[in-house]
Amino acid sequence: MNERPDETWINETLYPDWGQRFRVTKELARVRSDFQDIVVFESDSHGRVLVLDGAIQITERDEFVYQEMLTHVPMLAHPDARRVLIIGAGDGGVLRRVLQHKTVEKAVMVEIDGLVIELSKTHLPSIAGDAWNDPRAEVIVGDGIDYVAKAADESFDVIIVDSTDPVGVGEVLFTDAFYKDCARILSSDGLIVNQCGVPFMQADELRETSVRRARFFPHVSAYVAAVPTYVGGFMTLGIASKGQKPDTQTSAEISERAQKVGVLGTTRYWTPEIHTGAFNLPPYIAENLPSG
Ligand code: SAM
Repeated sequence: MNERPDETWINETLYPDWGQRFRVTKELARVRSDFQDIVVFESDSHGRVLVLDGAIQITERDEFVYQEMLTHVPMLAHPDARRVLIIGAGDGGVLRRVLQHKTVEKAVMVEIDGLVIELSKTHLPSIAGDAWNDPRAEVIVGDGIDYVAKAADESFDVIIVDSTDPVGVGEVLFTDAFYKDCARILSSDGLIVNQCGVPFMQADELRETSVRRARFFPHVSAYVAAVPTYVGGFMTLGIASKGQKPDTQTSAEISERAQKVGVLGTTRYWTPEIHTGAFNLPPYIAENLPSG
């Protein structure tokens, strides 16, 4: 379809030869922070959209898919998640979902770019809701790799890494040094989850990080979510645990936990059945895991 001369479009520049584009109804912010280019715009099709270094990070319309799956799966795979570390996730959407779990006593969020937090508070307030003011939340502006290097042994039950892709400032969050410290600061039942991209387009991301996690965690797995604006089919979320395997509970057990913590019935993508089913990987994705 041809563009009209009075229209403005933004092209995602994640891949050099393929991508999606949005018609912009209003540009709300365009700045260069100390770490990355940040754009926030409004669209009729997806509501407000956050873009970092040309890659779509979150849209108001489909953020629930990614945030619910990134958060509720590890939180409910863990038998009793009370202390949670979130790395990245400057839009606050993961923080909001973590704090939905009544049993959570403390959620520490470490985001390197204070401007992402500020612009999200101003232009994307629906994503975090009231999470920023929750007394259980501690928000730190800093590098995730420095935070995990200094954190005490066994001080968290779940770590959720909501990072940019492994280029630029997010690269350190995909390294051996990072995973080694994450394993050390997790309790004996501890679990870590991190976004591993869209394997149809970015298979290396899942393959390489799975091999790295397997050096420090006895159980390494992955599950999928269909996030419409992370184009290219399923997105994978890599999960690794120190205690029991993360994918062995039945949907009835997950449902019971979700009911207890107050999450059941609050979601638009995650359900106990989606939770357990998401670990069934198509072979083209499973082949990127160490056991695949
Ligand atoms: N959920 C979306 C996605 O996956 O596309 C959004 C993620 S975005 C909010 C990821 C955040 O990770 C960015 O705000 C970025 O500043 C932050 N980040 C990247 N490297 C980091 C690091 N080393 N330590 C902490 N945060 C980091």
